[in-house]
This record gives sequence, C-alpha cells and structure tokens, in this order.
Amino acid sequence: AATRLFAVLGDPVAHSLSPALHGAALAARRLDAVYLALRCGDREAVGLVRGLALAGGGGNVTVPHKRRAAEAVDRRTGAVERTGACNTFWSDDGAVWGDNTDVAGFRGAVTALLPEGVAGARVLLLGAGGAARAALAGLLDDGVREVAILNRSVDRARELIRGMGAEGSATALDGEGALSGEDFDLVVQATSLGLHPSDPLPTSLDRCGGVGAALDLVYGREPTRWVRAARERGVPAADGREMLLLQAAAAFRRWFGDPVPMAEMRAALNERDG
Ligand code: NDP
Repeated sequence: AATRLFAVLGDPVAHSLSPALHGAALAARRLDAVYLALRCGDREAVGLVRGLALAGGGGNVTVPHKRRAAEAVDRRTGAVERTGACNTFWSDDGAVWGDNTDVAGFRGAVTALLPEGVAGARVLLLGAGGAARAALAGLLDDGVREVAILNRSVDRARELIRGMGAEGSATALDGEGALSGEDFDLVVQATSLGLHPSDPLPTSLDRCGGVGAALDLVYGREPTRWVRAARERGVPAADGREMLLLQAAAAFRRWFGDPVPMAEMRAALNERDG
C-alpha cells in the first residue's frame, strides 16, 4: 500500500502543533504515513478534504475552514451535525467522513479538571465563536444543568443558543454586569483573548461569586494570564493544552485505531510548547 498522506488545512497554519503531535504518534506506531501543515483558501480546502480522504489519508481542519469542511464531507458524526464544524476527516467505503473532535477533546479536558463531571452543573461560558460552540455541545452532551453565555456581542451568543437548540439550558448574558457575584461550578474561557501580550484580559472571575474550576481553551507556551489569575484566587484551573492533546488523540484514533500513543503525543506537546 502507498504511504498515506495527512494534513492540517488552515490559514494561518504554520504555528499549528498538529504536525508535531501526529508526527510523534506516527513514529511511535511505525506507520507508513506523513502529516503536513498546508495553508490554503476555502476552495482548495474543499478539494483537499475530499482528495486526501479518498486517496486513503485524511487530516484536520482549523481556522477558518471548519464550517466549509463540514459541508464538504459526505457523512457527519453527531458532533459535526451539532456544531456545524468539522476538524477531522477521512474516508470509509468510498465516502468522506467528518468529525469534530474538539467536542471530545473539550469533554476530556473538563473531566481531567473536574473528575465529578458537569452533570447537573451550572457553567459560565465566555465567548460565542467556534471554540465556544464545541464547548457548548460538550456541556450539553454531558448533562449540564445551566449554561450562562457571556460574549462581547450578545447577539452572537443568542444565535449560538438558537442554532444549537439549547434554549432549555442556556441563556445569553447582557454584559458583565449580569454576573453580579453569581456562583458557578465551572467557568470556560472560549474567547480568543490571551494569545497576545497586548490582549485585554478576558472577564475576571472576580465578577463571579464562588467558582469551582476554570478552564481556558486558549493555550501558549505558559499558562495564560487568565489561568494564573484563577489559580491566585485558589480556583483549580487549566489552559487549552489538554483539549488540544485530546482532540488530536481522538482524530488519530479515527484514522489508525488504537492504541493511540498518548505518552509520545504529550511529550511532543510539552517539548514544542512547554
Ligand atoms: P472565533 O473567532 O470563532 O471567536 C472568537 C471569540 O472571542 C468570540 O466570542 C469573540 O467575541 C471573542 N473576542 C475576540 N476579541 C475580543 C475582544 N477584544 N474582547 C472580547 N471578546 C473578544 O475563535 P475560536 O472560537 O475559533 O477560537 C477561540 C480561541 O480558542 C482561540 O484562541 C483558539 O486557539 C482556541 N481554541 C482552542 C482549542 C483547543 O483545542 N484548546 C480548540 C479550538 C479553539 P465576538 O463574538 O463579540 O467577536
């Protein structure tokens, strides 16, 4: 059989950690496959998703092509149906499949932080973009009781709730003032703030009352300022690296099955990013 070709498709994509994570896993399993980072526009992304998958490979999709990829595949997992976004593709029996492993990655990262899980929990979700969408899907899957969504544009938070049919358990907050000392079991930071030193800080936990745990989906070389501030307040907190690792592991499992070389993937992440 030919060498199988995998790639992460995005723009920009040069900073992606996926080639390092999957490269380490491919080497550990001694698989005849390569994994590249390919920068591309919308139209190329659709062609590459289908072409790579039908040639026996597959890959990942990142910003800004996840929605377009969800439309490009023939079969969608529940996570893709729910979020309208696809970050992982492959083919089976001549059909191109898409999954959104950000949802599984998010659920795993929450479990690592809150072993008792979020069933029945009250959660504050900061942000209403793609990462927030995956988080909301994961929270609903895990039986969350109530999600309050705070986003700079409140309309986008409302749209997220409507789009996912989450009116029964989620509400959009109209500004930080609406928090007024409320208690949350978990706060999820899913805005893009925190990557750049010049970014303003995301909403502070000081606006809430009691907080059980804090999960930032943003990750970098160091824990984000938001994570550090949470820890200073005595709140158990984690950044987005565990979610990144677990979404990659779930994608690798789709392509190659078990065992997923977690130790090697984790080492590659720490080497590149820690
Ligand atoms: P989007 O562009 O889809 O959403 C960005 C979000 O940030 C929106 O809610 C936006 O609010 C908010 N935002 C941006 N700038 C500001 C600002 N100046 N003040 C207040 N809010 C702001 O991005 P994604 O959701 O795709 O990604 C968000 C982050 O999550 C990224 O850092 C990404 O790397 C990370 N991520 C991590 C993953 C992981 O595995 N750990 C997986 C996926 C993403 P508004 O709607 O008002 O514009």
